[in-house]
Amino acid sequence: MNLEGKIAVVTGGAMGNGKGIVEALLNYGASVIILDKAESLTKTVNEFAALNKKVLGIRVDISEITALEETVNIIKKYYDHIDILVNNAGICKLETFEKMSLELRDLHFDINIKGTWNVTKVLLPMLRASKKASIINLSSVTGEMVADSGEVAYATTKAALIGFTKALAREEVDHGIRVNAILPGYIRTPMVEGMAKESNPSDPESVINGIAGAIPMKRLGTPLELGELACFLASDLSSYITGTSIVIDGGSTLPETMTVGV
Ligand code: NAD
Repeated sequence: MNLEGKIAVVTGGAMGNGKGIVEALLNYGASVIILDKAESLTKTVNEFAALNKKVLGIRVDISEITALEETVNIIKKYYDHIDILVNNAGICKLETFEKMSLELRDLHFDINIKGTWNVTKVLLPMLRASKKASIINLSSVTGEMVADSGEVAYATTKAALIGFTKALAREEVDHGIRVNAILPGYIRTPMVEGMAKESNPSDPESVINGIAGAIPMKRLGTPLELGELACFLASDLSSYITGTSIVIDGGSTLPETMTVGV
């Protein structure tokens, strides 16, 4: 894969999956702008810059449209178009439907759905200017294919991104923009470590081991493995792929039962 000369925006690239996606894009020669609200963004940018990689970081909350409009003005000082947008930033806080507050519901909707919508909206003119752009939305196997208890808000938002991906792909095809979704299973990131802690505060590692044990490949994925898939969808190698989604889960959604088999 060759992404030399391509300009990419990755949301939530300070850590976890986003950082793996940024690393892979940089490895294939892209210039990357990371949008993230975390303080650790500076550390991440410095890490990559120390390796002479072409990376820029802008601290912004993707749920705030006005702040995003200012962000686009900053990006325009450096670039006149964007070739790749990876809508990766997202949150997952476990709570049952019965107990979930409207505030926690809205936090998921505001970041996972509206945040993705906002970033895509403000960057659309720059993506169209590429004439050959790729948008990649981080959905999940959760929502579209499976779900665990406490994931109602998260699952709702991740399934919504499938509809967003398809409808936008249909509309933007005439502008040379491809739009696809990635559906990861469990990738070891700060989010998953947080979910393990919420599930068993005294022994989160046992939760991680339990997840790994139920996956046919017997391990969680890495952010860099996810990054490789994002680069494929960003590159010309996937030039005829749009409006679809690709699962990356080590086979976690394959088993039909826990008992049948020889
Ligand atoms: P993470 O919590 O480890 O990292 C998320 C990053 O997004 C952080 O850097 C955070 O600061 C940033 N972020 C969160 N809200 C933001 C906001 N409002 N504005 C700007 N930045 C914001 O999460 P992760 O596990 O790396 O997940 C990344 C994406 O991958 C999410 O969309 C998630 O739903 C998806 N995903 C993850 C897994 C997994 O197993 N880790 C599985 C399926 C899908």
